[in-house]
Amino acid sequence: MADPLIFNPLTYDPAHFDTETRRLLRATIDWFESRGKRRIIEDYRSRAWLGDFLEFSAKEGLFATFLTPASATDREDGRWDTARIAALNEIFGFYGLDYWYAWQVTILGLGPVWQSDNAAARDRAAELLSQGEVFAFGLSEKAHGADIYSTDMLLAPDGDGGFLATGSKYYIGNGNAAGLVSVFGRRTDVEGPDGYVFFAADSRHPAYHLVKNVVDSSKYVSEFRLDGYPVGPDDVLHTGRAAFDAALNTVNVGKFNLCTASIGICEHAMYEAVTHARNRILYGRPVTAFPHVRRELADAYVRLVGMKLFSDRAVDYFRSAGPDDRRYLLFNPMTKMKVTTEGEKVIDLMWDVVAAKGFEKDTYFAQAAVEIRSLPKLEGTVHVNLALILKFMRNHLLDPAGYEPVATRLDAADDAFLFRQGPARGLGSVRFHDWRPAFDAYAAVPNVARFREQADALCDFVARIAPDERQSRDLDFLLSVGQLFALVVHGQLILEQARLTGLDEDVLDELFSVLVRDFSAHAVELHGKDSASGEQQDWAVAAIRRPVVDEARSARVWERVEALSGAYEMAL
Ligand SMILES: Cc1cc2nc3c(=O)[nH]c(=O)nc-3n(C[C@H](O)[C@H](O)[C@H](O)COP(=O)(O)OP(=O)(O)OC[C@H]3O[C@@H](n4cnc5c(N)ncnc54)[C@H](O)[C@@H]3O)c2cc1C
Repeated sequence: MADPLIFNPLTYDPAHFDTETRRLLRATIDWFESRGKRRIIEDYRSRAWLGDFLEFSAKEGLFATFLTPASATDREDGRWDTARIAALNEIFGFYGLDYWYAWQVTILGLGPVWQSDNAAARDRAAELLSQGEVFAFGLSEKAHGADIYSTDMLLAPDGDGGFLATGSKYYIGNGNAAGLVSVFGRRTDVEGPDGYVFFAADSRHPAYHLVKNVVDSSKYVSEFRLDGYPVGPDDVLHTGRAAFDAALNTVNVGKFNLCTASIGICEHAMYEAVTHARNRILYGRPVTAFPHVRRELADAYVRLVGMKLFSDRAVDYFRSAGPDDRRYLLFNPMTKMKVTTEGEKVIDLMWDVVAAKGFEKDTYFAQAAVEIRSLPKLEGTVHVNLALILKFMRNHLLDPAGYEPVATRLDAADDAFLFRQGPARGLGSVRFHDWRPAFDAYAAVPNVARFREQADALCDFVARIAPDERQSRDLDFLLSVGQLFALVVHGQLILEQARLTGLDEDVLDELFSVLVRDFSAHAVELHGKDSASGEQQDWAVAAIRRPVVDEARSARVWERVEALSGAYEMAL
């Protein structure tokens, strides 16, 4: 029987979605399976452009259905529905991150458009989507990295109410093919934030010059240059501070996709890894007879389950967000930095086991091992997202507020709030529901109880010996505190989702034994930081815990892992 916790294309049937959504998800799986593993790998190795895939998507109306908000389409099933977008991310990650990337940057390119009041630009985008075009998001520049304030894309007034845009963009996905590129720049005649502009460009316009693909891959991560590109009123999406907010709010929408993409990568790699290890005989026994191999594969499995539970629950908060409930602003960077770095650990653990096999060109694993690295680094690095998470720590841990419970959100609703998130400021005032009840509900699970001791210890740290003024300027120190906090939030949403879905308690206990070890490891890290005070060092040592060992439980979880052997193999 297939493991219900791990995506398996052979048995996948997301019965909670409507008929058309299920049809499209199935059609996507079938397209990849019929293209076959050999061809998919060859396209990856030869860096072939994704034309056939985009043709399939255009024919089925896949992007148009999934990425046009209800307010911009007459399609019966057209809506922006984060639950089904997450499901598609997982499928794309499962088959190849390059496919996912073309879709992901289309989402980013659409962000500034769907947030705009410019009806002409919205109509144009909807029409392009229905023709099967892809989109691009032109924010990054070669010289400026995360510092988007310093844009050198300059818009000079043309004397007729419009502008002529000149400048370069770098790392822009789909910049070779996009029907619409959302470009961020600033006016030459207005100083400061009031001068920012987001505008729509066409990659086929003669003033748009494609320079090159800056990476060696099927994904086209372009450098392009605009030379006096005419920007008319119909092309202007946002001006002033609203343009800056549109950039950040678009990244909020876009970065949510990275967690489910990394989950898909890990799932496919896990089938290959467990199947290989289980069937490889050394010294007369399967490799999976080694205790350390079991430990690594079991850790990988429960970490992956944790990634899934967290991400699924984060979907609920994302879809239920509104002006008075901005908790998604914490859970979103968590999906970005925590879930994707967990993905790296999952692949690392499995690669230690499959060793040489992970290099072979006819495996999916070889590309998984490369691609999994990119997700923590894109859409803001781990540091940037951890720094963001820290802004919420005190309110989250120490100052809970009352909220109505958030239900599971798999309904066919349009997530309209994501395109009217408003000013990106005021993060310090966001309040959260109490994290403790999620833990209380599982107080009888030994490692949840053990981890709870560590979470309580962190509250004590924040209340009593929080970073002082000097340490507040030491991001190296702060980030190690951020890692501890991120673990508590990770555990909280995992527990909430476990309760909502009736997760097997053996799996939960085993998963929390990993989180206990992680907390201890980060506490040791904090202990060694240059600027840690004596009190903080003592605290760190006292926060170390040993997980509760239970051999029978571990054996039962191992049986689940072993059952993945042979459970799925991609069609050749
Ligand atoms: C394959 C690929 C595809 C991409 N696609 C797109 C795209 O389609 N559109 C687009 O606009 N961009 C795209 N990018 C750009 C990507 O978003 C940036 O690479 C990313 O935001 C980080 O910038 P950087 O790598 O230049 O790092 P830098 O900004 O140079 O950062 C250097 C270091 O400083 C740290 N740092 C910087 N700022 C802070 C801060 N505030 N707090 C803490 N630490 C900080 C970083 O963590 C990092 O360690 C893509 C990049 C790649 C590689």
